[in-house]
Amino acid sequence: MSHTRHNAAPIVGIDLGTTNSLVAVVDGQGVRVLGDEPIMPSVVRFEAVRGCVVVGQQARDEALDYPSATIFSAKRLMGRSAADVAGEASFLPYAVVAGEHNTARVRVPIGEGGGQGEMIVSPQEVSAHILRELGKRASEVLGVEVQRAVVTVPAYFDDAQRQATRDAGRLAGLEVVRIVNEPTAAALAYGIGLGSKKASTIAVYDLGGGTFDISILRVTPATSVGEPAFYQVLATAGDTKLGGDDVDHALVSLFVREIVEQFGLKVRGSEDFEPRTRRALISFAQGVKHRLSDELEAKVLIDLGVGRGEGGRNVYERVVGRDEFEEMVGPWVEPSLRACQAALQDAKIQAKEVDAVVMVGGSTRMPIVQRLVGELFEREPYTAIDPDWVVALGAAIQASILSGDQVEGSVGSSLLLDVIPLSLGVETVGGAVAKLIMRNSSVPARATEMFSTSVDGQVSIKISVYQGEREMARDCRLLGTFELTGIPPMPAGIPQLQVDFLVDANGVLRVSAHERRSGKQAQLQVVPNHGLTQQEVECIERESFAHAQQDMDQHRVVDLIVNARLDLKWIGERLNRHASTLEPEYCKQLEQLLTALGSFVEKAQQDYQSVDANAFYQAKQALDEASVRLQEVSIAHSLRADAENGTGEDS
Ligand code: AMP
Repeated sequence: MSHTRHNAAPIVGIDLGTTNSLVAVVDGQGVRVLGDEPIMPSVVRFEAVRGCVVVGQQARDEALDYPSATIFSAKRLMGRSAADVAGEASFLPYAVVAGEHNTARVRVPIGEGGGQGEMIVSPQEVSAHILRELGKRASEVLGVEVQRAVVTVPAYFDDAQRQATRDAGRLAGLEVVRIVNEPTAAALAYGIGLGSKKASTIAVYDLGGGTFDISILRVTPATSVGEPAFYQVLATAGDTKLGGDDVDHALVSLFVREIVEQFGLKVRGSEDFEPRTRRALISFAQGVKHRLSDELEAKVLIDLGVGRGEGGRNVYERVVGRDEFEEMVGPWVEPSLRACQAALQDAKIQAKEVDAVVMVGGSTRMPIVQRLVGELFEREPYTAIDPDWVVALGAAIQASILSGDQVEGSVGSSLLLDVIPLSLGVETVGGAVAKLIMRNSSVPARATEMFSTSVDGQVSIKISVYQGEREMARDCRLLGTFELTGIPPMPAGIPQLQVDFLVDANGVLRVSAHERRSGKQAQLQVVPNHGLTQQEVECIERESFAHAQQDMDQHRVVDLIVNARLDLKWIGERLNRHASTLEPEYCKQLEQLLTALGSFVEKAQQDYQSVDANAFYQAKQALDEASVRLQEVSIAHSLRADAENGTGEDS
């Protein structure tokens, strides 16, 4: 199949969501979402002047001022009849009426309080405003007029709902070249079905603000290059009323209950507060919820204004712990797990037969959600790509395949290879990179290496993961960092830090760090090839050849500095301690060698090129050899001390 290009503008990928929408593209800069603030609320406000609308963040921010003219969640009405949505309509702040052929329409008052009449708009028109705004944004960023898009829809959308989405595109002046299922797009974003030759079964768990969907897909890869992979939806399940909003409301109820108790207010619940206060309480709750995804506790402080509290003000202050929060949230995650079970049953497969679990939607950032889903499927879910972006990025990849940009081993200019194009490693002391997986290794690939601390009493270790061929971290591409905390204080070199790298068949890298003595663990997940183009890989390779000798010298000197500093510290301390029992001549010899090595270290730290690596190495060797006797004395001393009082001072 070949495609001809209509114009220079790329086909964009659009995630047209119930709550938020965004647009992404694959171009010379790789695969990326567009706009400084890529996430745009799917909210449209109709103005008094016919044809004038406010779309996105501003419409959402000002929704309280224009409750009946602000349309949220139009996606829930797309392609459905008024009767179909009667149940849901009662939750919406605007009026839903029956239009032509009994289709769901929205009645919007015009002017203050509807003083200038009203208009009836279709959900397609509302969605068209969102699509037009995204198209405009993409055109601005790309500097060309975007005319074509791939748009995603839920896997369970029927023909009428898909057609309504196409119509929305047409109204927005965009040609919708393909409608893609959201879970398929999420799989594409992770490269599932593009790189490997094996068929696989995947689960896409999508938990957003207001809805939950689980889809089980069967992915059959292309039999030959240039052919598309086949993504079959085996089963879907979900809940149109389950999402992060429920968690916000649970937290608000908790705050309100405590506020009422603490300050003796005469309200029964949050429904008795003004809409503005309710909104404020919800944003406090969201803040707490978001912080608890990264931290173990979050504090909230709400100034309720004048009252009987301290300083004449009622201030509600509360710390919510992760454990307490998870106890609240657990029962809310449960129904989503039951839906997963139901979908698996429909698909006639067992949870453990699923090869990959992809996380979509902002609420999957909650650690409890990741944990429970991981337990259900008996595998760690994919979280490496931003769960709010993953569908749009996948849509952009689909767009790039459709525009015929596909060449062997890559889609558009992003890489989808069954070998690892650039080496992967971690930064070590001094800024060098220890490579664990070398370039051109085939996937899946796995490697393990042991590290330790370089400073006495270090209780946390930052692990920075790099990609590239150069020897120094600053010349490589940083993929991500994470921290292993809670290590009990030990002398430098004693903690045993095991770092494992695993690149699976889809090219997703999981790095885990494990301190063996304390059992502490931490991990990171990334997609190394994301945003990396073939040209970049070639450029990185060329650079590494050009700098090979210089890099190796530098790496050698950096390692020498690290080891020499440990020697200087260890030998210096022992020499001080045992000088009185050693011959003055020997002490003097060691002191001279220490000084010589010390000056190499000092010079090398200022500029590694200023030292001769061989001479530096020899200075270290000379000290190591000369210090053998000191070590013997020191060990003998500590053995004696052990025998005398049951402890050794030199251990
Ligand atoms: P979506 O509809 O996919 O945009 O998801 C939005 C939902 O994700 C909202 O309920 C957000 O509060 C929630 N969310 C976003 N970020 C986080 C986070 N860091 N921790 C927990 N929930 C989050």
